[in-house]
Amino acid sequence: MAARVRALETILTKKGLIDPAAIDVIVDTYETKVGPRNGAAVVAKAWSDRDYADWLKRDATAAIASLGFTGRQGEHMQAVFNTDDTHNLVVCTLCSCYPWSVLGLPPVWYKAPPYRSRAVIDPRGVIEEFGVTLPADKKIRVWDSTAELRYLVVPQRPEGTDGLSEAQLADLVTRDSMIGTGLAKGAA
Ligand code: FE
Repeated sequence: MAARVRALETILTKKGLIDPAAIDVIVDTYETKVGPRNGAAVVAKAWSDRDYADWLKRDATAAIASLGFTGRQGEHMQAVFNTDDTHNLVVCTLCSCYPWSVLGLPPVWYKAPPYRSRAVIDPRGVIEEFGVTLPADKKIRVWDSTAELRYLVVPQRPEGTDGLSEAQLADLVTRDSMIGTGLAKGAA
């Protein structure tokens, strides 16, 4: 794959279609500047601020952009909130659509055919393989991402976190909890 990417970049550069310096900036952005910390800040704010949570529910794209998180693969966002009754899980069954602006680049397993098929066939079993056993009566809703719409799971806020600041809350929000294959740290 690395050799194919290099070959493609060489040809496109020779034809004058891309500027390697521009590619480097894009790669650096998604490797070092954009990542799950962005999404964690969104979730922590939603946990702390009811008005922001309402906005995030109604218009996630605008609510997320208000924190400065915009860009490729995050143009149209929907936030799906976990509740006592329902757990949300995100997949892209067709390929690997993923909300880069809030989660960075997708993990390898997210792009792998077994996750993409089994997330819809047996979501409860998949979540269990990630170490999370959900109560039997909790519904699981699976969201299939597309190039037009990306999903961010808002995990449930763990008990006993009333006194924490937004920054402290953000530390509890893992990448997997925003995909739905995990829970926030300290949540049961
Ligand atoms: Fe996709």
